[in-house]
Amino acid sequence: MIRMRGVDKHFGPVHVLRDIDLEVPAGQVVVVLGPSGSGKSTLCRAINRLEPIDTGSIEVDGVPLPEEGRGLAQLRADVGMVFQQFNLFAHKTVLDNVTLGPVKVRKLASAEAREQALQLLDRVGIRDQADKYPAQLSGGQQQRAAIARALAMKPKVMLFDEPTSALDPEMVSEVLDTMAGLAEEGMTMLVVTHEMGFARRAAHRVLFMSDGEVAEDTSPDAFFSEPSSDRAKDFLAKIL
Ligand code: ATP
Ligand code: MG
Repeated sequence: MIRMRGVDKHFGPVHVLRDIDLEVPAGQVVVVLGPSGSGKSTLCRAINRLEPIDTGSIEVDGVPLPEEGRGLAQLRADVGMVFQQFNLFAHKTVLDNVTLGPVKVRKLASAEAREQALQLLDRVGIRDQADKYPAQLSGGQQQRAAIARALAMKPKVMLFDEPTSALDPEMVSEVLDTMAGLAEEGMTMLVVTHEMGFARRAAHRVLFMSDGEVAEDTSPDAFFSEPSSDRAKDFLAKIL
């Protein structure tokens, strides 16, 4: 579903992604771990072309990333992304946040978009918040609204970049549970997180990034019980 070959990226003198080869088959849940600055966000952002890469190739569902134009809108629909900051449209209701993309990009009739949005809000457990504005929701509810908004585009892949890092602790589990539910339904997911419980429970695979490289690519069991690189051992010693 995602295929990266020889991907390199610099920010000025900083080599942020180093020769990344990565293949994520459909239905797989990959958790990306690694220290701050190791390139996790850049990796995610490269996949939906929020960051252009220097060299190498990226395909989503067999299609090379487009440079610009209509192809980019299609890519952003196919690759849903949820960030640390909820970035919902503040001046639109939750329902309107979820219907906007399908109406504009997928040309869904508004009644149909509304019906679909209510179903999605139900699925993430906030249907009763549909007519509120983002500021009237808790952080956990806002993040679930952001997930519903991405799902409304019927994405093939979902990217999550530290979706629970900005949440109060008591709201973390409601968002992780929503994500685990998606994983169980077979969504292809790439998840940057510091939630090791989620990695153990929901990931099929763990990527450990260090200095722009994928330093380990293994099962959660193997990663947590016997990390092979010193860098991963250091990392785990600090967080566990
Ligand atoms: P964190 O865990 O703190 O979110 P990360 O693993 O997501 O870190 P990235 O955000 O991908 O790391 O950043 C990787 C490197 O690229 C860092 O050295 C960072 O300072 C640099 N970087 C990221 N974005 C930019 C940018 N827009 N311009 C210049 N340098 C950047
Ligand atoms: Mg980051």
